Amino acid sequence: YAASEGLDVLTADAMAAGGQAGTSSRIENYLGFPAGISGAELTRNALIQAQRFGARVTVPSTVTSLGLDAGERVVTLTDGSRLRTRCVLVASGVAYRKLDIPRFADFEAAGIYYAATDMEARLCRGEEVVVVGAGTSAGQAVVYLARYARQVHVVMRAAELGRSMSRYLVDRVEGLENVTVHQGTVVVGLQGDGHLGAVEVETAGGERRTFATSSLFLFIGADANTGWLRGCVELDRRGFVLTGASLPPAAREDDRWRSAGRMPYLLETSLPGIFAAGDVRSGSVKRVASAVGEGSMAVSFVHAHIARPA
Ligand SMILES: Cc1cc2nc3c(=O)[nH]c(=O)nc-3n(C[C@H](O)[C@H](O)[C@H](O)COP(=O)(O)OP(=O)(O)OC[C@H]3O[C@@H](n4cnc5c(N)ncnc54)[C@H](O)[C@@H]3O)c2cc1C
Repeated sequence: YAASEGLDVLTADAMAAGGQAGTSSRIENYLGFPAGISGAELTRNALIQAQRFGARVTVPSTVTSLGLDAGERVVTLTDGSRLRTRCVLVASGVAYRKLDIPRFADFEAAGIYYAATDMEARLCRGEEVVVVGAGTSAGQAVVYLARYARQVHVVMRAAELGRSMSRYLVDRVEGLENVTVHQGTVVVGLQGDGHLGAVEVETAGGERRTFATSSLFLFIGADANTGWLRGCVELDRRGFVLTGASLPPAAREDDRWRSAGRMPYLLETSLPGIFAAGDVRSGSVKRVASAVGEGSMAVSFVHAHIARPA
């Protein structure tokens, strides 16, 4: 959107263009794709489109800090290079939490999943699977996977399911015959040769059990990719970027904004000319459509800022 509206745009991504969406097997709910589209194809198309409008895409390129210097925004990359610009849009998303257990890395791309889409569901048809987590996303995944898997084991540290899962989901999960909930239990080990073959769990009382499974689903939350922003812009207590009216009054009414004669725009951070969109933004809806929508909205605020800099 920024490049299509004549702005000079450079993107920096630490891993690969496309972010989380690029790893999705099939995105079913993005407008305009009635049969769904794979994350890889959506990313490929978006990249071609952005570059056709003149955006320069740099990958891999990790940003380590962000600041203001003599009225310009300064972005520092890992190699020490500094980019000076009039506006920055932060869209660094989230990273899914992992388990701190031996051999986790061996199976990250070989049996460990962070989403239960059609592809994963088909892979575990007739199999035994383990789902870790007790929140709403875990509940949705369990209900979905139970339609395909022979047996679904839900492993959760908490003592009861209802603490962070919606009541309707608790009822549905508990009503499924092929679902077993293991409360007060954690995953302690993984086994397999080349691909996940078994998951070892332990109860609070120290009792161990091993489930023979080739699929381990993790729904244990996600952390905002904002380590590099600490001390630069205001974050909420979970580390997500605060924008617009969500900023604390002190951050919205300091001298910088007073001398600019305006308040932060809806998607503007505590620093004028630095915007945030998508999953990284505090209170955002974690969807492809909303990340894209917020990105396009942010561009209108970029234009407004350039026309009247704070
Ligand atoms: C498996 C899976 C399936 C999904 N399926 C759907 C679906 O069907 N429908 C739907 O609507 N949503 C789905 N989602 C959610 C959706 O993908 C996200 O809401 C969306 O991708 C958010 O986009 P984003 O740009 O805000 O952040 P992200 O996609 O998280 O992208 C952030 C990018 O920033 C980069 N980055 C982070 N820190 C730095 C740094 N310091 N320097 C440089 N780069 C950095 C990361 O490498 C990453 O590429 C799915 C997510 C997953 C994981």
